[in-house]
Amino acid sequence: MKCPTCNKEVYFAERMVSNGKDYHRACHKCKRCGKTLAAGNGSEHQGNLYCPNPCYAALFGPGGFRAGAGTAGSAKYD
Ligand SMILES: [Zn+2]
Ligand SMILES: [Zn+2]
Repeated sequence: MKCPTCNKEVYFAERMVSNGKDYHRACHKCKRCGKTLAAGNGSEHQGNLYCPNPCYAALFGPGGFRAGAGTAGSAKYD
């Protein structure tokens, strides 16, 4: 089986299974921050791997970025 990240054959010694695919240990990392991910700990999005937190959540999670200052309510007048 080929590693989805680099498209090279994965051998048993360097194999890391995630999302039902075989990755090289070194290739099983977050595309956004570069952090190496534990087996089964990668979140996949369109063939790319991300760490579940904070990268995947920030990029694709519900809500994404925290909303800044309140847009409604709590208007304050001095
Ligand atoms: Zn690879
Ligand atoms: Zn990350």
